[in-house]
Amino acid sequence: MRADARRYRHHVEVGSHKSIAILGAGITGLTAAHRLVAVGHRVRIFEKADHAGGVIRTEQTDGWLSESGPNSLLSGDANLTALLRELNLQDEVVEANPAAAKRYIVRDGKPVVAPLTPPQLFRSPLFSFGGKCRIFAELFKRPRRRNLDLSLANFTRDHFGQELVDYGLNPFVSGVYAGDPAKLSARYAFPSLWEAEQSHGSILRAQLAKAKLRRQSGSAAPKIISFRSGLATLTQALTRQLPADCLATNARVESLLPGQRWSVIWHREGETHTEEFDRVICTLPPAAAAHLRFGILGERPLAVLANLPMASVSSLYLGYKRSQVTHPLDGFGMLVPATERRAVLGVLFSSTLFSDRAPDGHVALTVMAGGTGRPELAALDTDALLKRVQPDLSSLLGVSGEPVMVRHSTWSRAIPQYNLGHERYLEVMSACEQAHPGLLIGGSARDGIALPACISAGEKLARRVIGQ
Ligand SMILES: Cc1cc2nc3c(=O)[nH]c(=O)nc-3n(C[C@H](O)[C@H](O)[C@H](O)COP(=O)(O)OP(=O)(O)OC[C@H]3O[C@@H](n4cnc5c(N)ncnc54)[C@H](O)[C@@H]3O)c2cc1C
Repeated sequence: MRADARRYRHHVEVGSHKSIAILGAGITGLTAAHRLVAVGHRVRIFEKADHAGGVIRTEQTDGWLSESGPNSLLSGDANLTALLRELNLQDEVVEANPAAAKRYIVRDGKPVVAPLTPPQLFRSPLFSFGGKCRIFAELFKRPRRRNLDLSLANFTRDHFGQELVDYGLNPFVSGVYAGDPAKLSARYAFPSLWEAEQSHGSILRAQLAKAKLRRQSGSAAPKIISFRSGLATLTQALTRQLPADCLATNARVESLLPGQRWSVIWHREGETHTEEFDRVICTLPPAAAAHLRFGILGERPLAVLANLPMASVSSLYLGYKRSQVTHPLDGFGMLVPATERRAVLGVLFSSTLFSDRAPDGHVALTVMAGGTGRPELAALDTDALLKRVQPDLSSLLGVSGEPVMVRHSTWSRAIPQYNLGHERYLEVMSACEQAHPGLLIGGSARDGIALPACISAGEKLARRVIGQ
């Protein structure tokens, strides 16, 4: 038995086995279920869709491997490492191709290599001489404790100047949140930056100190990873180890009856079912959580979550013959700042990022469009979207002709935006838990949107149940 499992088993032997309902079978719900099942609790997961995994979806056909939702994750988080070990997935992990360390950012209509080290920054055409001086001057910032949150754009401008906001922060934020740096909260969207300012003043000095600490402790820098057969490997492995009666798919939950024992009312194909549990863990996306009705009066204590801003994005996976693309595609991908006024938010060089993602002699690109800045693009059908992005692909990457493979996924209101005022939504979730003992809430609207953050959220939810 592994050390982690031994630690949790001890808790359960001291306490009693509980019955737990988990709402939603995305990565957060599946991780919580995995941990709770491992220590002997009875778990039922209710999932509206006909399969588990949430927004993680991998498809494989004729030598193409496409991800319609997330494409990769960052290694290094202790919960992720432990989970991969427990699921025996270490041999399935693939690291990003070393070439993918290079990233392109579009400036003045051309993809320019983003500088990653001080010497590269000195030489880079991405920033003007004045812009570079402003960036290096950040090294002299003194630690600062702010009382008030501020937008990520204002925070970054204060540290590095406007040019870095336009050509560093803006494309970076598009790649993570598909959001607007002028609205995102510095404190909640990137808490590590907020903390770095408090501890070191300078974000650059904090990064250097972190790298030094890592070198001294001999730990490896986080890497971009996936699995040989794509990200669904992780959710499929989590699903496989669940007991036979644990996962209910096509099972939509809309109401709960709180009490010493909670009743979960769920619907499948026009039929209504009720089951009782000791605890309920909600990992639903904010809009679904907002619609949950509580008690016989059908109150909606999480209704405010319907107002939590969400980004809609379209992911267009395009396959081409190698000869159709003149760009070397020697990198992770290309991000497009809003000031460049293009239809695409960014393009991942998917067949460079990981090996074996396209048939021999072909390349795969994943084009992201939409986001909070251009939501209308996320709503277009495949042909209309292709028409909008093809001029960008042609002028920026030298793509010619029609793609030989097209896969289009539309994600409506899919990425929570941790905008200024986000604490209002966090408070609503905390207040709901306090008013309804036995209810626990977690997931991408509360605990961070990246996959490792959602895995940690699942672990945290399970630990809270185990500790109760
Ligand atoms: C397009 C896209 C690209 C992304 N790219 C990356 C990336 O490259 N790297 C990264 O780290 N992160 C990425 N993310 C973020 C990350 O994938 C998500 O934050 C994370 O997967 C969310 O997991 P979750 O379990 O919290 O929620 P979800 O995956 O949304 O799971 C919630 C589940 O609840 C179910 N549900 C909804 N309503 C009900 C109901 N009434 N009853 C029962 N079930 C219900 C849903 O069907 C869903 O399965 C991306 C996200 C998106 C949308």
